Amino acid sequence: ICVAMPALLLWQANIIWRFGDRKLGASLSIIVLVALSAVMLLRAYTAVTSPLPIGLYANSPMQTVYLGSLNFGLLLSAIGAILMASERLHFELGQLASKDSLTNAYTRRALFELGENEMARCKRHGTALAALMLDLDHFKRINDKHGHQVGDQVLIDFVQRVQAVLRRPAILGRYGGEEFLVLLPETGRDDALAAAERIRQNTTRQTGLPVCTVSVGLACLGKPQTDTLSALIGRADAGLYRAKEMGRNRVEEASP
Ligand code: GH3
Ligand code: MG
Ligand code: MG
Repeated sequence: ICVAMPALLLWQANIIWRFGDRKLGASLSIIVLVALSAVMLLRAYTAVTSPLPIGLYANSPMQTVYLGSLNFGLLLSAIGAILMASERLHFELGQLASKDSLTNAYTRRALFELGENEMARCKRHGTALAALMLDLDHFKRINDKHGHQVGDQVLIDFVQRVQAVLRRPAILGRYGGEEFLVLLPETGRDDALAAAERIRQNTTRQTGLPVCTVSVGLACLGKPQTDTLSALIGRADAGLYRAKEMGRNRVEEASP
């Protein structure tokens, strides 16, 4: 038992090491499993080499260490397993609240949280921030002509294409049905315009899915101390309405 059990415990520790996230629960479980294996192997070694008795109820130091560590180890490994389960649950709940289940873009709620953080950063450091409001053109026609499942695929494909042309700190979220908001931290008007054009041009390329163009409203942060996130989004939305009015498949700013 003292040779087979360590093999089993180390195998389990290896699985947690490979597939677990390196947080407290997994670390505790691995440490406990390795420590228990070490005690068991030591017991197996002393059983062969020491003249002291080794039976389950024998009165020897090794036996005391073995029984003590077994009790304590089982308790700690149960705590480790519970911690791992609660950490995973916490992660999945976080994902559910922050990522849109269809497109994997940020949810509206996460978008506003991240946006407020960015606004606070802009206020502290006086940095720039731009917003792009994206709305797929005549998307209802795609649903009507090809069905909602194809419509869903177009949305998924659209988000992947937008993500592909955005640089690292950009925040992309689903604002509503087929409307998306991009926040571009530390981005001035010219770079925001270039990003919007990259998005617009990259969505019209063929993928086997029905072609769907996008209209974009662009807005830049005014004075950080007085401007607000909702005012910025409002201006991007006004730009989007202008783009729709002017014929769609274009980038526009709100008229001054
Ligand atoms: P416009 O160019 O003026 O934006 O026209 P539109 O047809 O895109 O605009 P409208 O707001 O009339 O239609 C949006 C459509 O998006 C209606 C709705 O059924 C569809 N939609 C919203 N969310 C989803 C979704 O998750 N999946 C699918 N397949 N369709 C969706
Ligand atoms: Mg639309
Ligand atoms: Mg819309």
